[in-house]
Amino acid sequence: MSAKRIDGKAIAAEFRNEVAVRVQRLKEEKGLVPGLAVVIVGDDPASKVYVRNKALACEAVGMHSEVHALPGDTTEAQLLKVIARFNADPRIHGILVQLPLPKHFDGHAITEAISPDKDVDGFDHSNLGGLITGHPGFRPCTPLGVMKMLEHEGIEVDGKHAVVIGRSKIVGKPMSLMLIHEGATVTTCHRHTSDLAHFTRQADILVSAVGKLNLVTRDMVKPGAAVIDVGINRQPDGKLAGDVDFAGVSQVAGWITPVPGGVGPMTIAMLLWNAVKSAERAAGLGTGAETRIA
Ligand code: NAD
Repeated sequence: MSAKRIDGKAIAAEFRNEVAVRVQRLKEEKGLVPGLAVVIVGDDPASKVYVRNKALACEAVGMHSEVHALPGDTTEAQLLKVIARFNADPRIHGILVQLPLPKHFDGHAITEAISPDKDVDGFDHSNLGGLITGHPGFRPCTPLGVMKMLEHEGIEVDGKHAVVIGRSKIVGKPMSLMLIHEGATVTTCHRHTSDLAHFTRQADILVSAVGKLNLVTRDMVKPGAAVIDVGINRQPDGKLAGDVDFAGVSQVAGWITPVPGGVGPMTIAMLLWNAVKSAERAAGLGTGAETRIA
């Protein structure tokens, strides 16, 4: 068998086009330009690239974007002040603080300082609580992007066994919850899981969100499974790759996502998706949130 390669770039482009249409409608009907503020602290080169890509993506769909760059020795009080200013700014509908933050910050306090109405990353306790209870709120962009990919490809989730490798707050845990809400039976594996392959071989849908090259090999995958690779790793030759041995697993899986060009573009598209929803809510259109529940 040769797996279907899921083209995340192409699917993300469809979502971005839809966002652009909605941005235009907000401008014409409500005189409102959706705005996203991105705050970056320090000069981590990878973070700088991510922030630049997010700002460019905003501009491409007609949104206003503001990048606020702060030096690495910024104090927590100074960062909280910047967030408070964006919370109060009516031109800003989404705020994100690029992670990771320098070690002297209390990441939790920073996340919680962002107004839940503008937390387009969906990381604060109120949006994550909404995910658990099945109430409206912003859903974390990466797992939301995975769900949209599965839907786009017509991959059935209801009644299937999904295995998620990784249990982080931003990917693994919300991923498992979203799959549960859509009717999957979910196994969540992590660094303490013994015999990972025992679980992955049972998966109709396998999501790997770890950050370890070649963690998932062909012998660990059930024939015909949908394999979604969230991991981002740098290979010895400098090229990017995911957690999954793409060549080997492609021979047994039913669907597979590449890295790059899979989940990554979907994450940015979902950020725009959440930001336009936030602006629509501010304009009194729709609920402004992902409303699908259990
Ligand atoms: P994290 O380090 O917070 O979490 C990694 C998880 O992997 C942990 O839950 C840990 O228990 C688990 N793990 C570690 N080693 C394992 C092993 N040998 N077997 C099973 N589980 C193991 O990372 P994160 O923020 O969740 O990100 C995970 C990966 O996804 C990283 O490579 C990151 O760069 C990537 N990522 C990609 C996107 C995207 O848009 N494509 C977005 C976010 C994160």
